[in-house]
Amino acid sequence: MDDQVRLLADWFRTNNWPVLPCPACSKGRLRAEDKNIQSEQSPSTYGWEHADDGDPTDIRGLFHGLLYCSDGYCREQVVVVGDYAVQRDLVDDNLDNYYRVRMIHPPVEVVEVPESVPTSIRQTLVRAAGVAWRDPSAGIGLLRQSVERLMDERQISASRPSGGFRPLHERITEFRSVEPDVADLLEAVKWVGNEGTHPGGLETSDFVEAALLVELALNILYRTDTSALQARARRIVAAKRWVP
Ligand SMILES: [Zn+2]
Repeated sequence: MDDQVRLLADWFRTNNWPVLPCPACSKGRLRAEDKNIQSEQSPSTYGWEHADDGDPTDIRGLFHGLLYCSDGYCREQVVVVGDYAVQRDLVDDNLDNYYRVRMIHPPVEVVEVPESVPTSIRQTLVRAAGVAWRDPSAGIGLLRQSVERLMDERQISASRPSGGFRPLHERITEFRSVEPDVADLLEAVKWVGNEGTHPGGLETSDFVEAALLVELALNILYRTDTSALQARARRIVAAKRWVP
């Protein structure tokens, strides 16, 4: 997972935007310029200075704007929407403006996976990235669905011989006999996903952690096969010279 994407799980200073990867090209990064981002103070916080215990950190609001890809050929534009607040810096006690992203369209990739990961899994991960910053429980629910798609791709049946629906836990248990370490990662995602169905829901930081588990599982299962290159290196080392 890109380090800058992880920063979306929390508030950041308005002059310190995460430099996100472009969703359209593999080269550019999304740039935020002040002229393209507007913040709007919520009317309910207009009168903070007149309140007896008024504090500028009571100020709340929204922001909206556009980010642009830095690649000269791509120039993809991405809509961003989120919350705006004034907070006091814990180190120097200065007041600063902060944003927290709630929606990015088109979505910025969260789970980075090898090219060979099947489309059905990739599409579910993009849907997860599309909702997670606004509704992390829904995002984790879609991560859980990506595990179901992985079980499909690995021919782990979704139904019992009697015809009944097979819960995800049962499918992962069967998969454990083939890939025990990966099964642990997937079962952890399933348990987090179960939490998301309870009242109160989950935080964006929980989504990021669950996404990291899915990412690790997919990287183990679909990692690039380097065995041929490693075997060739061993032949060169054994010969102590370049061999064609
Ligand atoms: Zn781009």
